[in-house]
Amino acid sequence: MNITIAENLKRPEPKALASTLEQLAARFGNRLVTSLAVREQHGHTTTWLQNQPPDAVVMAQETADIQDVVRICAKNGVPVIAFGTGTSLEGQVNAPAGGVCIDLRDMNKVLAVHAEDLDCVIEPGVTRKALNEYLRDQGLFFPIDPGADASLGGMASTRASGTNAVRYGTMRDNVLALKVVRGDGEIITTGTRAKKSSAGYDLTHLFIGAEGTLGIISEITLKLRGIPETIAAAACSFETVRGACQAVILAIQTGIPVARIELLNTAQVKCCNAYSKLTLPETPLLLLEFHGTAADVAEQSRNFGEIAIECGGGDFTWTTKPEDRTKLWQARHDAYWSVKALRPGAGVVATDVCVPISRLADCVGETEDDLERLNLMSPIVGHVGDGNFHCSLLCDVNDADEMARGEEFMHRLVERAQAMDGTCTGEHGIGQGKQKYLKAELGAEALDAMRALKRALDPQNIFNPGKIVPAA
Ligand SMILES: Cc1cc2nc3c(=O)[nH]c(=O)nc-3n(C[C@H](O)[C@H](O)[C@H](O)COP(=O)(O)OP(=O)(O)OC[C@H]3O[C@@H](n4cnc5c(N)ncnc54)[C@H](O)[C@@H]3O)c2cc1C
Repeated sequence: MNITIAENLKRPEPKALASTLEQLAARFGNRLVTSLAVREQHGHTTTWLQNQPPDAVVMAQETADIQDVVRICAKNGVPVIAFGTGTSLEGQVNAPAGGVCIDLRDMNKVLAVHAEDLDCVIEPGVTRKALNEYLRDQGLFFPIDPGADASLGGMASTRASGTNAVRYGTMRDNVLALKVVRGDGEIITTGTRAKKSSAGYDLTHLFIGAEGTLGIISEITLKLRGIPETIAAAACSFETVRGACQAVILAIQTGIPVARIELLNTAQVKCCNAYSKLTLPETPLLLLEFHGTAADVAEQSRNFGEIAIECGGGDFTWTTKPEDRTKLWQARHDAYWSVKALRPGAGVVATDVCVPISRLADCVGETEDDLERLNLMSPIVGHVGDGNFHCSLLCDVNDADEMARGEEFMHRLVERAQAMDGTCTGEHGIGQGKQKYLKAELGAEALDAMRALKRALDPQNIFNPGKIVPAA
């Protein structure tokens, strides 16, 4: 899918760019890379949105590197795009006006763990899996799980969440403080390790979800949790999506502290059966996880089992044995790959919307009807405890008619969610792909406020230009 460069975006003057690259080469030597292959890997690669590579990539190793790239680029008016692991789905790492990408993957040190305070301080390139491996011996974990092994800097910048959010919240709820390199290369500290604070404007949350458009995060202080004593996994098939959603609503309303609650619609279950050689009933499926003491998880599982029967659920299975848990959740773990395998060669676009939980059944049901009407294939997976679900739309990118129907589908999906008082994205962010929906969701005044913030913090518009807020 082509993206037109926003009207107010201009590539830097060739002379300014050349001078920038010269200064960066002098400072970074072979840590400045300009080969096309590497530049393309640092543009958008995860969906069918067009790849727009930067002009160069700098491999940062410490905060001073970020500061120097920003200072050199700012002097020449050249864009700077932060890169975590590049798993974002809405074109966030693209460079529509060229510029310099700062690859933060080598800034991957855990700087401190304060076990007694349940927090840690890390560099932005630490990935969530690496962090959890590091923490495991101390009986601690970081709960946000977006599926991909994303960097914590990228996750903070997209306000990511995932399967655990129903119990542990999103990145918004789990970051205590940030250090951010601003446009003149100086560092902003947004908070401390205190669990709460009323000290001034909430800068931490301004940068969470800013997608690198306001500055580059160079250090993150995160909240941690104790690894639960017992984890139970559970699965239950339902006759209808409505029945499954009703069970989710009742579980949330009655205060069962589910740690994960995922919906797979019939199309997704069929996909998983075919890919993972499973024999699940080909109807909507709920997968759950409960965390706590052995007694807690037994009670939670029992209570949910009763709700499931009330809502037309079939056999309710639950287990605490690690190997059986993995088997029960196999379908969810393989969901993405099973969709990819369904139609080799087709492009996949993973899109997300989020609605108030009471509207979830309507939104999923109408979305399934729309797919049938448009003759499109898109299994649905949802973090349904939050009213958030993903469509993995499969389209042949060389088939103009199918692509047009795909675009119509995605547009109608967003309009449907917004009409239900929901949002065009629960967790993937705005990037380039969802800019056109912000005004309808928040209004012109909110966009003006965002533009004013952007101008105040990045007057030269060098930080990841062309993302989030569309030109006025
Ligand atoms: C298979 C798959 C499943 C996924 N499932 C989920 C899911 O369930 N939930 C979910 O939330 N997301 C999901 N995602 C999307 C993706 O994993 C998240 O958006 C993730 O947060 C991106 O992290 P990243 O390190 O890859 O960031 P990148 O893609 O590298 O960057 C994302 C944005 O953050 C900016 N950025 C990166 N690092 C910094 C920094 N240090 N300072 C300032 N800005 C920075 C970039 O400029 C860019 O705008 C999924 C992706 C895939 C491929």
